[in-house]
Order: sequence, then structure tokens, then C-alpha cells
Amino acid sequence: MISVAFSVFFISFLLVTLLVQFWLGSRHIRHILQHRSQVPAQFAEKIPLAAHQKAADYTIAKTKLGLVLLIFNALVLIGFTLFGGLQWLSVTLVKITGPGMWYQISLIAAFAVVSSLLELPFSYYSQFVLEQKFGFNKMTPGLFFGDLIKSTLLGAVIGLPLIWVVLTLMDKSGALWWLYAWLFWSGFQLLMMLIYPSVIAPLFNKFTPLEDDGLRARIEGLMERVGFASKGLFVMDGSKRSAHGNAYFSGFGASKRIVFFDTLLSRLAPAEIEAVLAHELGHFKLKHIVKRMIVIFGMSLVFLGLLGYLKEQIWFYTGLGVEPMLLAKNDAMALILFMLSVPVFTFLFSPLTSISSRKHEFEADAFAAKHTDANDLVAALVKLYEDNASTLTPDPLHSAFYDSHPPATVRINKLLAASSAA
Ligand SMILES: [Zn+2]
Repeated sequence: MISVAFSVFFISFLLVTLLVQFWLGSRHIRHILQHRSQVPAQFAEKIPLAAHQKAADYTIAKTKLGLVLLIFNALVLIGFTLFGGLQWLSVTLVKITGPGMWYQISLIAAFAVVSSLLELPFSYYSQFVLEQKFGFNKMTPGLFFGDLIKSTLLGAVIGLPLIWVVLTLMDKSGALWWLYAWLFWSGFQLLMMLIYPSVIAPLFNKFTPLEDDGLRARIEGLMERVGFASKGLFVMDGSKRSAHGNAYFSGFGASKRIVFFDTLLSRLAPAEIEAVLAHELGHFKLKHIVKRMIVIFGMSLVFLGLLGYLKEQIWFYTGLGVEPMLLAKNDAMALILFMLSVPVFTFLFSPLTSISSRKHEFEADAFAAKHTDANDLVAALVKLYEDNASTLTPDPLHSAFYDSHPPATVRINKLLAASSAA
């Protein structure tokens, strides 16, 4: 009885979420079309109409693909759960592997492989049709499939032992397994942050020390002014895959390094690069990164605690179309069902996370305006929006659900107000 109620609850949430996502997507497209014929006033001198219209067309194309993907993913979700996909996979595998740990690990691995194969046509289309059409794709199919093979191998090498540890904790460490799993998971996350820049990122891209002496001196001056120590300045060959530009820093503690995409360096003037970096350093100096990590670790503790409860409830399995095994462990199945069902229940709350991330963006902009020239940041943002064909006129509600950054017009107005007040 509870199980039927849970199925109904799950389907209702899925339908409401889909309706909201469709409504947001169509609002977004309509809003962009309405503003397509004119560059917003404050950008009129800086961005040509053709670039504005390219951004509109690019965003609409991406949003439409997103809507198709929504329906596809909902069908896959229902196929895996209520239509018995996972049940079939599980019964088939247990016959081959027997009911032990191999069954559980092969269930997760098979699920991961099937999911990524289903997603593959969409990522291929996105890269070689959509991005290609707007001139952003720099990948060859060889590189695309090379990346896919590398990340699959990497996922297996890192992911399989990780899953083995979590499943063992679930099985052997008693009622508080979720707490131990959380400690283990958090430690793993910190380790990944430590080794990602020097071990994993170089598998996919080439990093060379920043050679431009003038720019280097400028950036070192900025780092000294704001009190930031780094293990080095690097340039990444982002142009190998995409024309989109970016700057970030990664790692923490002594392993922090600042990384510029080569695409960013070739496009921005030194003062603009400095302003963009000042924004990123603002995130660090204002403790946004630490705060975000605390929130993520806190949320994962809550979710693991919830999984600790759900994994003991028969309705959680049967409500999602799976008969729990009597002879084998159901922990791997619980992990999969949890991962599939949680986003259905959390999407409607996503504006809450956008609110705090927007607040951080404004604070980082103010930090950059304080330590560099706000006009340089504005100039850099205008160029980045134009180059990335990011729309200047998103639908405000769509933006509140999906964007971590405030709309460009809002950010730039704020920066210009600050610089004229100073
Ligand atoms: Zn930012």
C-alpha cells in the first residue's frame, strides 16, 4: 500500500518537475525572441547586433535540445524504475555472478554503462552539430572518443574501488554505516581536490607555465595586494576542444594553482585578465569556496542519512519498480534508486542554491572592483559574453532556476554604478 503511494508520489513529482521545466524553457525561448531584434541599451555600443542575434539563436538551440533531453531522460528514468529495467538487469546479473559483492558491483557498473550509452548520441550531437554550427567546436571525433575512453577508464580505476569500500561499509559497519560512508566520501573528495590539478587534469589537457613576463608581473602584483599565495600560473590548451574561454584556480592549500584557458588569454587585454582573476580570487578571499564545501559536505551527510533510512524500507524498492532480493544484498540497488529519484524531488528547490551563488558573484565582482578597475571587468565580461554567445536577455525566472551567475545586465549595471560612485 505504501509502495503504491510512493509510486504515485514519485510520478506526481516527476510530472510537476517536467511541467515546470517545460514552462521555464518555453518562457526562456519566448523572452529571448522578444529581445532578439535589439541589443540591450547599455550594450548597444559594445556588442554588434549580429553578435547579439547569434547569442539568441545559440541559446535557443541549446534550450530546445535541453527540452528534448528532458523528455528522453524522463522516459529513461521510468524505463529503469517503474517499467522494470533495473529489475531485469538485476535478475539477469545475479544469475551470472551469484549473490555476492560481484553482483552488486556489476549492477552499478552495468547501470553506469547503459546510462552513458543512452546519453552518448546527445553529447555527440551537442558537440558536432550544435557547437559546430555556432563555431565553438574545436574537437575531432577522434578526440571526442579518446576523451570518452580515457574518462571511462579513469571512472573504472577510481570508481570501482570507491564503490567497493562504500558497499562494504553499508554491509558490515552496522546502523551508522552512512556516517562512516560520509567520512570516507568527504576524505576522498578532499584527496581528489588535492591531486586533481597535478594528476588528473593533465590527462586531458596540457598545462604550461605562463610565459608572458608583463602579464605575470601584473598578476603577481595583484596576488600580493590581496594576499594570495599560489603554486603557479598555468596556461591550459582549452582551444583543443572549444572556443569558449575561462579562468579558474584549482586545488587547495599548498597545491593551489591558477589556470588560464589559452582562449581567454588570446582575447582579453592584460588589465582585463587581471580583473577577471581578481573576481576569482575574490571567491577565495571571501571564503566562498570554503562555505560552498561546507554546504556540500553538510548536504551529503543529510542525504546519506536519508539513504540509511530508505535502504531499510521495502516500499522504497517496490515503489520504484524493484523487488528486493531475498538472498543477495540490495545495497547497490538502493544506491542506484536513490541517485535516480533524488533529483526528481530536489529540482523545485534549485532557486534556493542559485540565491546564495548569486550573492557570492556580486561579492566577488565588488572585490574585483575594489582591487582592480571595475571598467576592466565590465569590458572583459562584455567580451566573454560575446565570445561565448551567452544571451544578454535571459528570462529572469529561467535564470533563477538554472544560472549560477546573475544575468549580465544586472552584473554590469552594478559594477558601473560602483565605479561611478568611487
Ligand atoms: Zn564568480
